[in-house]
Amino acid sequence: MNLESLGADTCVFGAFAMHASRGLVLGRVATSQRDQYRLYTESGEVAAEPSGALWYRTSDVASMPVVGDWVAARLVAPGQAIVETVLPRRSCFARRAAGRREEQQPIAANIDLVFLVSGLDGDFNLRRLERYLTLTAESGAKPVVVLNKMDLCDYVAARMAETEAVAGGAPVLAVSARSGAGFESLAAHLAPGRTVALLGSSGAGKSTIINRLLGEERLRTAEVREADSRGRHTSTRRELVPLPQGGALIDTPGMRELRLWAGTESVEAAFDEIAALAAGCRYRDCSHEREEGCAVAAALADGAIDPERWASYRKLWREARHHEIVSDPVAAREQKQKWKRIHKAMRKRYKSR
Ligand code: GDP
Ligand code: ZN
Repeated sequence: MNLESLGADTCVFGAFAMHASRGLVLGRVATSQRDQYRLYTESGEVAAEPSGALWYRTSDVASMPVVGDWVAARLVAPGQAIVETVLPRRSCFARRAAGRREEQQPIAANIDLVFLVSGLDGDFNLRRLERYLTLTAESGAKPVVVLNKMDLCDYVAARMAETEAVAGGAPVLAVSARSGAGFESLAAHLAPGRTVALLGSSGAGKSTIINRLLGEERLRTAEVREADSRGRHTSTRRELVPLPQGGALIDTPGMRELRLWAGTESVEAAFDEIAALAAGCRYRDCSHEREEGCAVAAALADGAIDPERWASYRKLWREARHHEIVSDPVAAREQKQKWKRIHKAMRKRYKSR
């Protein structure tokens, strides 16, 4: 198996070097189910378990291997390995693990690009897309918005324009996984060494897109009642699949079920024009309700910002803030300090325009 094509670069090989001298092999996690993994290694696929040390040393779930992780493993028998170390992650999607204190639980790592898939049928929803863009900003991966089922939509150009207005510069593509229309532009985002994840609600067409990209019936798709756009949930596994042309895809279950985690910083990143505007208020702690000199109120009054987008930003920001506080009060405080600085810089920038 060619690990470069699967995404191993100088960073990965560099981090692995010290483990190589201990006789370990480099592997990438294809699937992770409880403490059973499947790894891609130079010499093919192997089944793996965590070492006792990895299991007991890591008090937090955050350090256990997840799909997409690069690991150092010891081969113990043909096709059998023990994972000793998880190499540093370059990006990570995490969910809120419900517990006494909310914890972040990684679900997929080392993703370069995310296809945010939504159907151009009843599934189309800009507010949900804004949420996905926020979660992607949090992960460290780059988004590409994929509007699927263009064969079912009569206003593709208008939908694309609406989407571009909230996508913060991310590419927006229209495709039909059924007919293959638009797939050249989708395939142009795949490349050897690149890992792409697909996110979107169930029924949006992720499995159909993957099947078309792989050219086989790799994942089962469910029939959706086209009248209400609701599909049965079929892609329940998380799996890293190598692409024939190089690179890899990670399929994930729908985001709703996953309760993904994002902080306020990521909300600000996904709504950068709104965040910059809010930073232009006269008072630093402006609640944007009825203060004098409120830049948001002024922009709302003269139609410079879309009230729905503003409401969506507020909702996500409050949600993110709440989870920051519950999950880590100290980090939340530090974050707030950091934000004050960024806020100040932004306000300066905004005023000087
Ligand atoms: P997933 O839950 O996101 O993996 O969605 P699926 O790939 O299972 O697709 C859900 C349903 O939408 C299936 O019935 C697909 O045949 C259908 N579908 C997927 N892509 C398209 C498309 O481009 N056009 C049309 N008309 N239907 C599609
Ligand atoms: Zn204000």
